[in-house]
Amino acid sequence: MQSTKRDTASWQAADKAHFIHPFTDGASLHKEGTRIITGGEGVWIRDNDDNVLLDGMAGLWCVNAGYGQPKLIEAASEQLKSLAYYNAFFHTAVPSSIELAELLAEVSPAQFKRVYYSNSGSEGNDTVIRLVRHYWDLVGKPERKTLIARNFAYHGSTIGGASLSGMPWMHAQGDLPIPGIVHIEQPHYEALGSGLTREQFGLKAASWLEEKIIEVGPENVAAFIAEPVQGAGGVVVPPSSYWPEIQRICRKYDILLVSDEVICGFGRTGNWWGCQTFGYEPDLMTFAKGVTSGYVPLGGVMVSDRVADVVENGGIFNHGYTYSGHPVACAVGVANVKLLIQEKIVDYVREDAGPYLAEKLATLNDHPLVGYTDGIGLMWAIQIVKDKSTNALFDYDKQVNAICREFARKNGLIIRAIVNDRMIIAPPLVISRAEIDRVVEITRRSLDETLVELQLRGWF
Ligand SMILES: *Cc1c(COP(=O)(O)O)cnc(C)c1O
Repeated sequence: MQSTKRDTASWQAADKAHFIHPFTDGASLHKEGTRIITGGEGVWIRDNDDNVLLDGMAGLWCVNAGYGQPKLIEAASEQLKSLAYYNAFFHTAVPSSIELAELLAEVSPAQFKRVYYSNSGSEGNDTVIRLVRHYWDLVGKPERKTLIARNFAYHGSTIGGASLSGMPWMHAQGDLPIPGIVHIEQPHYEALGSGLTREQFGLKAASWLEEKIIEVGPENVAAFIAEPVQGAGGVVVPPSSYWPEIQRICRKYDILLVSDEVICGFGRTGNWWGCQTFGYEPDLMTFAKGVTSGYVPLGGVMVSDRVADVVENGGIFNHGYTYSGHPVACAVGVANVKLLIQEKIVDYVREDAGPYLAEKLATLNDHPLVGYTDGIGLMWAIQIVKDKSTNALFDYDKQVNAICREFARKNGLIIRAIVNDRMIIAPPLVISRAEIDRVVEITRRSLDETLVELQLRGWF
């Protein structure tokens, strides 16, 4: 663990002076002071003052293998010693990038044998935009340029990624989305499905895609992109009728189906990929986060034979990153994928940890502030409500879930407060049953304290 001689106040002062944080209101950050995190082991992180917290968010949905895995650390340092960097542009490659490509093909659905590397999920989705448009040009249908995405999707923060994302507050800054990207409503049953059964609603939500295709003109649509389960949009699990119907519609109009697996990939839903959990066959899959368990940045796109055969035989695709297939990132990716395989971590999520967390979270349903829980595998949301009988939400500006998040942190647990008063729990996939018990125990205590606080404020 990195030992530092500087105290927290000194780090905070330097942070305030020099570091602009992502997705952060600088003024409120520096009023409270940045929390300085210095160590991690398993599902636990430690701050500069030696407080230990259970990381119920796996960093940012990425530390699937947990902190401090010796095999990942060794893989990085061995690669750094032998060859820290070389590119993949000039008819060259390094062994780790080839080995990871081979492994990714092994753990992916049959249509995927090839990968295009990026350094992040955002870049992966930018690659998707360029790749699908290039594909349609090559097959002689250059008018197919529009991508359809969903409201409250999160596909990243580059201009392409933010345009694909369906977050109104992101679009509001910098005149997004860029042209050629349109959105449909999300398959959020509790918010939009009134009067329908879950499965009826799944079909209805999928029909919004068909409506949009007809509105844009099928001959103009390049692809539909979606997360298997919306992550940053609040862990919204679609009805089981949704994805097969989406698949049918994409095939009917010959539209490429892109699965953004940046959160769901690498075991989070209990299979290697979210599309396997929900039963559909995408043409492209974006990945990042869990591929290296976040130890070093890496992302990419799994490219199906349908698209890869065309692009590989279509001359130069004028696209690439200096760090496409970075040796160190790929070496960690190899070690991480092997670890997930050898330790049967994906099976553990599906058969043990996932169902156990689901069962324990369900015990919170009796709480006055909990409307319901929503999730799959090791990605879960607790819906905070003002009124259990109607699932009515508190006014958004009260930020009730942020109150709960702060109590949780004080009690030693990191969980995330997200859009529409949801609390998110998405721990490292190696979390034990005892640690899950602890997560749920602290969550209940924090909900209790939130309730008292709301009563004090006269909000409940
Ligand atoms: C995090 C995320 C991204 C963006 O990945 P970055 O590595 O932050 O660029 C894209 N899609 C989904 C679903 C994500 O959760």
